[in-house]
Amino acid sequence: MTLHDTYDPNNIFAKMIRGEVPCVKVYEDDVALAFMDIFPQTEGHTLVVPKGVEARNLLEMPDDRVGPYMERVQKIARAVEKALKPDGLVVTQFNGAPAGQTVYHLHFHILPRREDEPLRRHSGGDPADSGTLEALAEKISAFI
Ligand code: 5GP
Repeated sequence: MTLHDTYDPNNIFAKMIRGEVPCVKVYEDDVALAFMDIFPQTEGHTLVVPKGVEARNLLEMPDDRVGPYMERVQKIARAVEKALKPDGLVVTQFNGAPAGQTVYHLHFHILPRREDEPLRRHSGGDPADSGTLEALAEKISAFI
């Protein structure tokens, strides 16, 4: 997948937004959906995707939708920080396969970082236990 290509409405995140594929939800409104990453690179790895847009990456996001979406990214990042009290927080986003993107619907990663916790592999390894993800999502959503 190159940086510029056709949006695939059947990508996994679009299916989650439509409720066709399950996810462990942290937050949802008319602008964004936040859920736990199934291959967390650290404990509490959360994704925030915009709703109602066909944007494969940040470059394709309509100007008037960026602001409200980024407010949600900040809202979730603050809740992750309050709930999990990490030593640091990475908020990141990849555009195009050479940049590391693997799912082509815009999303921000929120990654709690702790002094003693190594960063696990991106988008791989064993999926996390759903009970563990549900407990984390509940903790985070309590602070939204
Ligand atoms: P990207 O590589 O596009 O920046 O990030 C895609 C993210 O989606 C990865 O961190 C990957 O672990 C996550 N992911 C891929 N498939 C699924 C899935 O089916 N469910 C959830 N919750 N996360 C997924």
